[in-house]
Amino acid sequence: MDLSLSGKVAIVCAASKGLGRAAALALAREGAKVAICARGPDTLARTAEEIRQATGAEVLPVVADVSVREDVARLVTETVRHFGGLDILVTNAGGPKSGPFSSLSEEDWREAVDQLLLSAVRLCAEAVPHLKRRGGGRIIHVTSVAVKQPVDNLMLSNAVRAAVVGFAKTLANELAADHILVNCVAPGYTRTDRVRELLQAGARREGVDEAAIERRLVAGIPLGRMGEPDEFGAVVAFLASARASFITGSVIAIDGGSVKGLL
Ligand code: NAD
Repeated sequence: MDLSLSGKVAIVCAASKGLGRAAALALAREGAKVAICARGPDTLARTAEEIRQATGAEVLPVVADVSVREDVARLVTETVRHFGGLDILVTNAGGPKSGPFSSLSEEDWREAVDQLLLSAVRLCAEAVPHLKRRGGGRIIHVTSVAVKQPVDNLMLSNAVRAAVVGFAKTLANELAADHILVNCVAPGYTRTDRVRELLQAGARREGVDEAAIERRLVAGIPLGRMGEPDEFGAVVAFLASARASFITGSVIAIDGGSVKGLL
């Protein structure tokens, strides 16, 4: 299938590692020019070089924290200045603090809102005028299966990511006439550094090996395994492409079947 992404310009946020990196790599493989951001310059520069080497694509690393308004504005401005426009925005950020309601302060809530919700809102505010100038585009928000089925002990993720879905659905309706399609992807357990760290922490806490923790986690996934980052990246590339021309306002789970509900 030709995704017709050649020459398109994409911003992928929080992309020095993990799911963001996989999305950027998939878009670059399909011929897109990609701006990637993260907070740490060294890993970001290394990832940009790896994606260039693997795909031959143009990759622009921009050091930016997506929870900081000025960084978001600079990320979009530098991308448009460098590549001459913008067609695709993939919003993403690190995960918020875990824990139940009783463990969270008001400051924790504010940080989670800045990191997950306001980052997406600000990125869209900066990017949409550029997408309109191109006559259309794609916005893809990275969320979590938590937006379909809350995950125990992840109060902030469950509550704040749901707001991102409400924002995305409303924006999809508002921007449809401008040919800008807005969707969310909802990954389940996918083998990234973050998940490796979760497995290690669980193993230390319980005094068992990581494989035991992974077996328990995978028991809830009908496909019987965790996802790989490339499997996630492929769905993002499809949604960003000309082939996904009648999908907007949707939340696509990439979870091996782990969500138990119908939708
Ligand atoms: P990861 O830790 O492997 O990578 C996170 C990336 O985000 C890194 O490049 C990091 O530098 C960057 N980053 C973090 N905070 C940032 C910020 N404020 N500004 C800019 N860059 C920032 O994590 P991951 O597994 O790729 O997860 C990405 C997102 O997807 C997280 O929000 C996570 O909670 C969510 N998620 C992950 C999984 C999974 O199984 N991996 C499942 C559901 C949801």
